[in-house]
Amino acid sequence: MNFTFHLTEQCNMDCAYCIREKRSRRMSEKTLKAACDLAFSKGNSAGICFFGGEPLLERELIEKALDYCQQLSAETGKPFYCKMTTNGTLLDEGFLHRAKKAGMNIGLSFDGLGQDISRRYADGRGSFADVERIAKMLLKEMPDSYAMLTLSPDAVRQYADSIKYLYGLGFRKITATIAYGWRVKWTEEHLSLLQKEMLKLSDFYSERVRRGEYFFFSPFDSKIKECISGMNPAERCHLGFRQMPVSVDGKLYACTQFIGDEDYCLGDVFSGLDTAKQISLAKRSSMPESCRTCALNKRCTNSCGCMNRMETGNENEVSPLQCAYERMLIAVCDELAEMLFQENLESFQKRFA
Ligand code: SF4
Ligand code: SF4
Repeated sequence: MNFTFHLTEQCNMDCAYCIREKRSRRMSEKTLKAACDLAFSKGNSAGICFFGGEPLLERELIEKALDYCQQLSAETGKPFYCKMTTNGTLLDEGFLHRAKKAGMNIGLSFDGLGQDISRRYADGRGSFADVERIAKMLLKEMPDSYAMLTLSPDAVRQYADSIKYLYGLGFRKITATIAYGWRVKWTEEHLSLLQKEMLKLSDFYSERVRRGEYFFFSPFDSKIKECISGMNPAERCHLGFRQMPVSVDGKLYACTQFIGDEDYCLGDVFSGLDTAKQISLAKRSSMPESCRTCALNKRCTNSCGCMNRMETGNENEVSPLQCAYERMLIAVCDELAEMLFQENLESFQKRFA
């Protein structure tokens, strides 16, 4: 089973779009152990993502979890997979060696050239120089690591240059999403700039494909894949089924955004998962009414319950922002895919075969 461990609610940064409440609550060792046991209790493998707040504030807990899961893996014969999402500021060589030994996959939250616009330390200092240095160290040790960019409206002008910068640093896997939630305000002007930036990125992406260079860029790759092979229902978010969060007090929730909301609590690590509630919650998620007749409804991220709830207050209602973003992204990706397809490039065919 796959779980996201929220080791702490504390963070040493105060990102402009972050909607998490920072508190000094942390996971106890007893809860951590029970969560690891649960991860190995069902299925053919165990998967854990270390998350926060900032998970490296609880480095000892991560190391304890790695030791214990390796022991459980040896005892059960089940493989163990782990990853971590971090702001990177507390990464050091010692931790990287331990992470590498455990086969950990690290996702570095890094907004590229927009870093100091959106991602500053809690005391207001910029973090760009530190994270750039750490990104180089990470890539040297673990070149397969990925960069995770969150685009705030104020950094939209730097979007394409930020992705190029991250690629130039050595990241070959980059995920990117726009910032959502009550702390950001997207205007028509921002969206129009976003479209221009996406077109610049389309040129950059196509050049990488023509040169046969490996470059995974999540928004384009996923939409092109869906355009060619159709939507894979298994890759869509289903409330409470894919990667279940474990809160600091050991409760299980349908999604990270729902932590603390009892309606979406699916048990805890001590008494286990309430599967009846999990199934009834999953059945509840459906396509928003406003999307039923839209020609794009099978290629659009319109039924992500947590995002819809964050933006509109209703898990089954998609926001105008999400609709505008999805339309824009699909249009750019369709044009890009059509152009690369017409060029009959072997690298493109292999990539999406
Ligand atoms: S690093 Fe993550 S948890 Fe910390 S403030 Fe930024 S977005 Fe929030
Ligand atoms: S583009 Fe808009 S209307 Fe169409 S499916 Fe997506 S969110 Fe719904």
